[in-house]
Amino acid sequence: MASSLRISRLLSRSSSSSSFFSLGGNGKLGRRVSKYSTSAAATIEEPIKPSVEVQHTQLLINGKFIDAASGKTFPTLDPRTGEVIAQVSEGNGEDVDRAVAAARKAFDEGPWPRMTAYERQKIMLRAADLIEKHNDEIAALETWDNGKPYEQSAKVEVPMLVRQIRYYAGWADKLQGHTIPADGALHVQTLHEPIGVVGQIIPWNFPLLMFAWKVGPALACGNTIVLKTAEQTPLSALYVANLFLEAGLPAGVLNIVSGFGPTVGAALASHMHVDKLAFTGSTETGKAVLQLAAKSNLKTVTLELGGKSPFIVCKDADVDQAVELAHLALFFNQGQCCCAGSRTFVHESIYDEFVAKAKARALSRVVGDPFKSGIEQGPQIDSKQFDKILGYIKSGVENGATLEAGGDRFGNKGYYVQPTVFSNVQDNMAIAKDEIFGPVQSILKYKDLDEVIHRANNTAYGLAAGVFTKDIDTANTLTRALKAGSVWVNCFDIFDAAIPFGGYKMSGQGREKGEYSLKNYYQVKAVVTPLKNPAWL
Ligand code: ADP
Repeated sequence: MASSLRISRLLSRSSSSSSFFSLGGNGKLGRRVSKYSTSAAATIEEPIKPSVEVQHTQLLINGKFIDAASGKTFPTLDPRTGEVIAQVSEGNGEDVDRAVAAARKAFDEGPWPRMTAYERQKIMLRAADLIEKHNDEIAALETWDNGKPYEQSAKVEVPMLVRQIRYYAGWADKLQGHTIPADGALHVQTLHEPIGVVGQIIPWNFPLLMFAWKVGPALACGNTIVLKTAEQTPLSALYVANLFLEAGLPAGVLNIVSGFGPTVGAALASHMHVDKLAFTGSTETGKAVLQLAAKSNLKTVTLELGGKSPFIVCKDADVDQAVELAHLALFFNQGQCCCAGSRTFVHESIYDEFVAKAKARALSRVVGDPFKSGIEQGPQIDSKQFDKILGYIKSGVENGATLEAGGDRFGNKGYYVQPTVFSNVQDNMAIAKDEIFGPVQSILKYKDLDEVIHRANNTAYGLAAGVFTKDIDTANTLTRALKAGSVWVNCFDIFDAAIPFGGYKMSGQGREKGEYSLKNYYQVKAVVTPLKNPAWL
């Protein structure tokens, strides 16, 4: 198992050997040595200046960057300091109307759905090439706006964006219907047709990847788009969208309206001329947009929502490897992953050893300015999330969980939180039930498989699950018993372009990525023609 264990392809660039969490020749996971103390007293040095200029801050409507109708702007902040990076045009309902009108025209009259699939494919491939060429600027913008380690942006996320756009470009000319044998002398065929104008609302934790997961399949199928970025991270999508224009994407095919949820997001979800809505964000907001869609024009909705994913460490596990993988599953991206393995269930026979090692690993996590080489963890996205996370840590202590590591802010500036580990966590504690979306690991103890299956599934969520075992029978039992849209066995956070992703239960509706995502972006038309010469049937 060890040699085939891909701890995280997400963290290794296929074209390079660099990997933050790779297995060494001895089958052991590579371990970083701490360069920085994670004590509350630690200070973050003067922030490193990103080597990129902010070029696009206006709305993108009908192929042009323009001011919001109201002329208003809002600040986007650097999570390292809370200081303003740039003022960004703040859209409202009027801007959504303008963007939808442009997308409508580009769909109803414009060239996009009528172009040959090969032409659409070539534009998407050109865009992917341009994104690849500007890898480092895009990565710098992403890290500046979001706070994630630059090496993660540059070596993993921009390449994954490129890969995803190429993957869907590849599908553009392979979308085909069927001929169907029906009763009677009939020729029956299905056409797969684009849906129309699609509204897409994305969150701040993976701005580029969420852009890719939504824009890629929508364009491949011939739809036009109005996309709303998260108010915390508007910059990278505007930069990338401009590269799509440079690649030849016709005006109005991809529009971006930056702004806030209750204004821009709600206007998109309730718009009568938006035919389909794709949303990624919290379960609470997912419910709200579903209602808006139902109350307006019954547009179809796909939702990718929250999670409280179990990561199950079985009694046969190599404890060192399990500790490292569980650490990655939770702390990756500052813990800001909807699929974070945020309930670490560990078998009682190895529990104490696991907790001691998980604590040591958290204490050695390298926290600091995300532009610095070798940093594993940057700041949280904003003050709201920062306060929320510290509030959950407080509740964990008050509810009687044992604080093994961390527990406080890191440094004295920005939104850094110490990597935090709790042991003796009980299922009914808020830290075991709620999505914290931060670097807080909760380690729970279990005795047997049936018990852990029941407890793992005893949640309203069902986005992902991790299983760590050498026993094939245990793996098979767990993969079938766990109610989750992704089950990663001896790996975690594998986000290959072709692998579907989505949730059971209140973690969502529909699947993104892979072939499955295309189904969200085309409709099926059955065409029936009588056959006039049955003699040839
Ligand atoms: P989070 O709490 O992680 O920020 P949200 O679900 O609030 O998650 O945000 C995800 C996306 O949904 C963002 O782009 C946000 O602006 C948008 N959003 C927030 N509230 C609404 C709303 N009422 N209607 C539509 N979109 C919304």
